[in-house]
Amino acid sequence: MPEGWNHTLVSLKNFIAAQLANDTAAPSAPSVHAPSLPAGARTIPREQHNISRRQISDAALQVLNGLHRAGYQAYLVGGSVRDLLLGREPKDFDVCTDARPEEVRKLFRRNARLIGRRFILAHVQFGREIIEVATFRGGANERQAVSSSGRILADNVYGSLEEDAQRRDFTVNALYYNIADRSIVDFWGAWADIETQRLRMIGEAEQRFHEDPVRMLRATRFAAKLGFQLDSAIEAATPSCRELLREVPPARLYEEVGKLFLAGFAQQSLATLQRYGLFAALFPQLAEVLEREDQGAARELVQLSLGNTDSRVSAGKSVHPAFLFAAMLWPVLLAEQERLVSEDKPEAVAMQQAASAVLEENRGQIAIPRRFTLTIREIWDLQARFHRRGGRRPFALLAHERFRAAFDFLLLRRDAGADLAALGQWWQQFQDADGEGRKQLIETARLEDRDAESPLGPLPASENKRGKRRRRRRNPKQTSESVTVVESD
Ligand code: ATP
Ligand code: MG
Repeated sequence: MPEGWNHTLVSLKNFIAAQLANDTAAPSAPSVHAPSLPAGARTIPREQHNISRRQISDAALQVLNGLHRAGYQAYLVGGSVRDLLLGREPKDFDVCTDARPEEVRKLFRRNARLIGRRFILAHVQFGREIIEVATFRGGANERQAVSSSGRILADNVYGSLEEDAQRRDFTVNALYYNIADRSIVDFWGAWADIETQRLRMIGEAEQRFHEDPVRMLRATRFAAKLGFQLDSAIEAATPSCRELLREVPPARLYEEVGKLFLAGFAQQSLATLQRYGLFAALFPQLAEVLEREDQGAARELVQLSLGNTDSRVSAGKSVHPAFLFAAMLWPVLLAEQERLVSEDKPEAVAMQQAASAVLEENRGQIAIPRRFTLTIREIWDLQARFHRRGGRRPFALLAHERFRAAFDFLLLRRDAGADLAALGQWWQQFQDADGEGRKQLIETARLEDRDAESPLGPLPASENKRGKRRRRRRNPKQTSESVTVVESD
């Protein structure tokens, strides 16, 4: 995962609580009901499951054993148990316990620190690894702070193991590996769901979505990542709950977007989100553009950028969120630019205004952090500069700190069908050439570029419509310095 996503879980867990400060619960708000536990949990003894301690990280084992030796209950829970049972490598190891955060801190002293305000968690660090230790959560039976639509606003009550199991989202996320005897505790029949690869909601799907609409995105994420089928109850509840995602603060949606698109299964995530009509909650304008008949190139660009991201993740390479979002929002930018040009705005002005508008709109939707939007803007702005190859300009562009990203972006547009093969090749040669070679390349470009009046080169909207290429055509009545004629044939 790229840097910055590591703290996601913590912020997610604390987000709901943090919102309470700004959000007041309606006095007549519905309360949260605990899904009733089936009679008796099933315990799967060590000899009947395949999780061995060797698969658990040293840091997680130290935390589990430390808690256990001090007389506390200690379980591995969530994605790690699920993933180990599925034979996958867990992303991280989360621990839950009946020890209060302050007790965890005392036990692990300098290795531990408490985080969060309302729902306090302990972070215990061994080596470079941080293990998140959460005290069993409870309170689902009590009247809780919820918004008028049932969204949980405060989530700060401690409870028992059973109560903790009632607060989790999906059955396969509520399996507990008990360090005391290495058994697995299964309250919800999750074992069978793992076997049949089914994602089933704990409790009533509609109510659980009302409590926290992000669970719909989590459902699609797990379906995409694990290749699981969504249970029919989840499928049935999603259409009527979709709109609830509008209530979710954009910053929390952004956290989820990162997990969906930057973790190695982005293409599958897109397909699953589209299938359940959830993509528009994250990228409304893009969802619209992608549905339009004439937007083959836009679909291609998005698919390519998601595919590249997935390949990079699986090859262990870094992925830059700004690059991916620059690509995902590019078709929206082009559509907006085209609209402005149709209102007689000059191309370059239209491009600038469109870029500002698209990023501004996004702030209210998924709130891509500013450090990334600045880079997105640079990548976009530099696209026009590839077309200006006179004098010292290519040298200045080459020296730009975003040159590499911007050039890769140019190639991505080319691969998605934009008419940029020659330009891409020229820039590749320019990078490889020595001083003399560069001079010659600039001279060749000078002759070609004489015609390119537009500061943007060919209007980028040309890649918007597959099979509807804009052509640069010299009007016979005009001189060789003729203007670009935009044709729609
Ligand atoms: P991943 O492999 O992506 O980390 P995960 O299942 O561990 O998957 P996390 O987001 O790390 O997912 O959350 C850890 C656990 O916390 C989940 O398995 C689930 O039990 C619980 N959880 C997280 N978010 C929610 C939520 N919104 N509602 C209910 N339970 C949640
Ligand atoms: Mg996790």
